[in-house]
Amino acid sequence: MEKTIFEKIIDRELPSKIIFEDDKCIVIEDIAPKAPIHLLVIPKKKITKLSEVQKNDKDLIGHLLMVAKEVAKEMNTEDAFNIVINNGEEAGQTVFHLHIHLLAGKNFSNFLPG
Ligand code: AMP
Repeated sequence: MEKTIFEKIIDRELPSKIIFEDDKCIVIEDIAPKAPIHLLVIPKKKITKLSEVQKNDKDLIGHLLMVAKEVAKEMNTEDAFNIVINNGEEAGQTVFHLHIHLLAGKNFSNFLPG
């Protein structure tokens, strides 16, 4: 199966600005930022979308969120950030390799619930 953009980035076949990496995930800058800080936390395991996650991915999903909050802390925005996961084409997902958007420096309260 054709590699996604994110698999190519993980495999260093495409360039990207890497903020953090460990054995389970990579954090990169979004190429078209929607906020002053717009990062993507991407698991190395190929999971197409959140709705495809299995029970045995539970630790991995927890790990991705832990990494997101640690990176937010590193970027001095630990008290003000949004996490977004688009699931499915109709919900705006364009890259079919699970990823968490970490957004900061912009107030999205008019768009998001709460
Ligand atoms: P989504 O629409 O939730 O699937 O998000 C995909 C995100 O990937 C979008 O915010 C894009 O701007 C971003 N993106 C696409 N190609 C690249 C790339 N080569 N490097 C970094 N981010 C990318």
